[in-house]
Amino acid sequence: MVAKKAVLVIDMLKDFIEKGAILEVPKGREIIPNIKRLTDEARSKGVLVIYVCDSHDPNDPEFSRWPPHAVEGTSGAEVVDQIKPQKGDVVVKKLKYDGFLGTTLDLVLRSRKIDTVIITGVLTNICVLYTASTASMLGYNVAIPQDCVASVSDKEHKWALHHMKDTLGIEIIDLKEALSLL
Ligand SMILES: [Zn+2]
Repeated sequence: MVAKKAVLVIDMLKDFIEKGAILEVPKGREIIPNIKRLTDEARSKGVLVIYVCDSHDPNDPEFSRWPPHAVEGTSGAEVVDQIKPQKGDVVVKKLKYDGFLGTTLDLVLRSRKIDTVIITGVLTNICVLYTASTASMLGYNVAIPQDCVASVSDKEHKWALHHMKDTLGIEIIDLKEALSLL
């Protein structure tokens, strides 16, 4: 059976990506054109694009660890303007680093018989890592274009890619290879 794919876009939200944002990941701005290219191409080929987005209550316990961010209903919780969700895309809200934990993500994928996910977004070593880990442990094939994910430091970015490849057997690819998978 031919693999059925989806492209996941994790936490490309204004509170992480915009200049001066509360939890700014400056390198996150560098991957916007690559994610745009990949999601545009995915849509044109009928491959589902799923945005997996932090969406917190103003009193979320996570704010004991991080400053308040991505509070539901605020502009900081919105996907950056350049790669906004479009008609036919799916948006999954999450509370934790892991995009599967307590969300509809697994159901969205299973109900469409998707078995392969291409994961993009931020941060390579936090939400991308935990979401990719669960995807892998649930039995999905996972590919990560390394030029479509970003972290605060190069060290954390590289460590996470290495860890996902070595420990989980996740395929680390680049945009060009990701485009050829669609
Ligand atoms: Zn959060």
